Amino acid sequence: MEELIYAEDVEKYYGSKNNLTKALDRVTFHVNRGEFTAIMGASGSGKTTLLNVLATVDTVTSGHIYYGKEDITGLNEDQKSDFRKENLGFVFQEFNLLDTLTLEENISLAMSLSGKTKKEISSRTKEIMERLGIWEMRQKFPYQVSGGQKQRCACARALINQPRIIFADEPTGALDSKSSRMLLETFTQMNEHMGATILMVTHDAFSASYCKRILFLKDGQIFHELIRGDKKRRDFLNEILDVLSVTGGDSYAG
Ligand code: ADP
Repeated sequence: MEELIYAEDVEKYYGSKNNLTKALDRVTFHVNRGEFTAIMGASGSGKTTLLNVLATVDTVTSGHIYYGKEDITGLNEDQKSDFRKENLGFVFQEFNLLDTLTLEENISLAMSLSGKTKKEISSRTKEIMERLGIWEMRQKFPYQVSGGQKQRCACARALINQPRIIFADEPTGALDSKSSRMLLETFTQMNEHMGATILMVTHDAFSASYCKRILFLKDGQIFHELIRGDKKRRDFLNEILDVLSVTGGDSYAG
């Protein structure tokens, strides 16, 4: 399998000398192309910090993060911004759609800086919206559709530039259980049929059970990993719950 990301001995401290918080403690792991990975852990375990440093949104205190051969910890702000645009997609808990644009415009806008022609942009937007089942509502504005539909729009926007990886931070956090299930099925479809590599932060075992691999964080360290393999999702869920019952915390929530 092709290695996409290698995080090597990553540490992240917040605060100043007298008041230091160690958010990440010598984190080392790989992400391969085509994986659908969850990062789990109790509140405060370092999940969001890890996602943010992997996504160049935050800087590491020490260690390295390689995308292929490129060490992104050495990039300056402009280079990081270009790197994000060219390589990364994001799905946030709060959707982050623009209220004054239709769903179609929200998605095509993300592609407008790519140098592609109008025709290419509209045909790619249509293709992705159809695949995610939201083409019928292309002329609606975000406030006119459900949370689940907004989140599928956010997925389409994340996918449109064919990023190397999509980062999702608690993407089901604002959704009811039916919409959550649909979003997780959408992620599975994106991963299995559209070639998307996805890394999702969640504290919710049900959401994590849709993934192929789970990294468990505790006190800023990776302390356990589960691989789904051929297991049924229900069996994988039980396995996840077993790990969480050992670690405690708020990990059952959601
Ligand atoms: P999680 O996403 O698992 O809830 P975080 O990555 O948000 O955990 O936080 C990890 C640790 O780092 C926590 O102790 C948190 O209080 C601390 N932390 C996170 N962000 C900051 C910040 N900007 N300034 C100071 N401490 C922070």
